Amino acid sequence: MRILISADMEGVSGVVHTTETNPDKYDYARGRALMTAEVNAVIDGVLEAQPDADVLVADAHGPFRNIITEDLDRRVRLVRGRPRPLGMLGGLDESTDAVMFVGYHARAGAGPAVLAHTMSDGVLSARMNGRTFGEIGFNAAMAGHHGAPVALIAGDDAACAELAELSPDTVAVPVKEALGQAAAVTLHPAVARERLRAGAIEATRRAAEITPFRIWGPVTLEMDVWGATVDLATLVPGVERLPGGRTISFTARDLPEAYRVMLLIVTLGQVPHR
Ligand SMILES: [Zn+2]
Repeated sequence: MRILISADMEGVSGVVHTTETNPDKYDYARGRALMTAEVNAVIDGVLEAQPDADVLVADAHGPFRNIITEDLDRRVRLVRGRPRPLGMLGGLDESTDAVMFVGYHARAGAGPAVLAHTMSDGVLSARMNGRTFGEIGFNAAMAGHHGAPVALIAGDDAACAELAELSPDTVAVPVKEALGQAAAVTLHPAVARERLRAGAIEATRRAAEITPFRIWGPVTLEMDVWGATVDLATLVPGVERLPGGRTISFTARDLPEAYRVMLLIVTLGQVPHR
């Protein structure tokens, strides 16, 4: 059995502010230590339920270099650094039996939701075939495209609810209750880790029963983005600017093509414009 754990940081217990998630800020060292410990709790649960599982961890926050490598459970392999194929899901392929989302957060515009955003602060909204998705939805659909269900989600209550709309049978472990973009009632990290370990045991045992979330056929991708990102995005062949000026549209052959164009546009939005 092969499991891919995609680990973000905004949804980790105790974390409520960018000072704890931004490598340039004063509390980042604590944030990455909390993140590493939560991932270890999930790994421990997976390997308790399935001792011979092949576990891959994809560091999926910011620079993709947050997990403290030497503190990570030695029984897994780590996907680290960027840019890379499949972004937050680096390491996903047809052999992946299930994915687990740890430290995840709700989409841009959701609320109350801790540190809600969609890939970057420059994206106001992202839609596929008219439906709004955040990182949870895009990544659940990409996993589903490869035949893998989301077996576990951990994050605030808003993140858990967002995935439940797409995959109601996923094991959800809410580690904090959102009060706003930068406020929550959070479990103690030690308690969160106990619940994550137990959740991972259950998720590993139930993974095969959970239906992957899939988006079939061509995908119309629309994104509302800030300022110059629109100008950069429309340099990409096939990307159009819709009336109103802030929305770009791209019709993709299939979900992976839409996902790649979405990642490209997010990356263009992070390029300095002037
Ligand atoms: Zn993140």
